[in-house]
Amino acid sequence: MWRTLGIDETDWQHIPAVVQTKLRSQYHEIHCFKLRAVFTQKQLASLAVPAVHIERLNHRIASQQKQIVQLQEQLTDTALQSADIARLKAEIVELKEKLRQNSRNSSLPPSSDSPFGKPTPKRELSIHKKGAQTGHAGVGRKLKPISEVDRVVDLRPFACSSCGSLLLGADESPARRQIVEITTAGTLLTEYRRYCLRCLCCKKLNRAEWSDQTQGGAFGAKVVGVVGYLTGRLGISQRDAKDAMEELFAVKISLGSISAAQKRLSGNLVEAVAALHELV
Ligand SMILES: [Zn+2]
Repeated sequence: MWRTLGIDETDWQHIPAVVQTKLRSQYHEIHCFKLRAVFTQKQLASLAVPAVHIERLNHRIASQQKQIVQLQEQLTDTALQSADIARLKAEIVELKEKLRQNSRNSSLPPSSDSPFGKPTPKRELSIHKKGAQTGHAGVGRKLKPISEVDRVVDLRPFACSSCGSLLLGADESPARRQIVEITTAGTLLTEYRRYCLRCLCCKKLNRAEWSDQTQGGAFGAKVVGVVGYLTGRLGISQRDAKDAMEELFAVKISLGSISAAQKRLSGNLVEAVAALHELV
């Protein structure tokens, strides 16, 4: 140790023992400090590079946190907009339904009818024929808007004709027929809707049957009966019968439909007349 301190052995032996002890102690302390300094320098050297990375990472984390906040705000806005859209859609459906309803096609009282709507009691019930055909009267007719329909009858098949499964769902575009009929309360326009549903089990397409009321064309049995009475029993002309139907019942009917009604009535009476002939 004394060599490290630059002291030769002779001089060292002349140094008092107490001082030697003190020198040894201080020498060891200095040596320990040197070792610690080297170790600390090494630690600092190893931490210097990661510190740069940490700074970059901190910067990136801050940027990403900012983006997360922005995305959360956008998500909240989108959720609110979706809720608004859903609510508005529901309101539109409800309003459409309310517009469609009146005292004639729902349980609403007449006093609930809008004063701005069409004066329905005075409307003309006119079914125009398309072209000049005189055959089946219900084919090709222009349908009245739903606001003028008094009642709707849905005709839907209930069970699959192939496998018997219960038929579910709805037909978005059912076939439609409208029938004008005379009632004690006035004229009645009924719309029949024939549903076509696909079986969920066997995929067969099932169509409902048209009701008997729709088989005679666009006019009900009483309209046909009155036409028959006017032209057959009273013997008035088809043109006069046409005018009478409009004046007496507010039913607009073309000459072609008068003729079709006569044929329909005659066809229905064939069997009855033949039976009467046999009896006479
Ligand atoms: Zn089926």
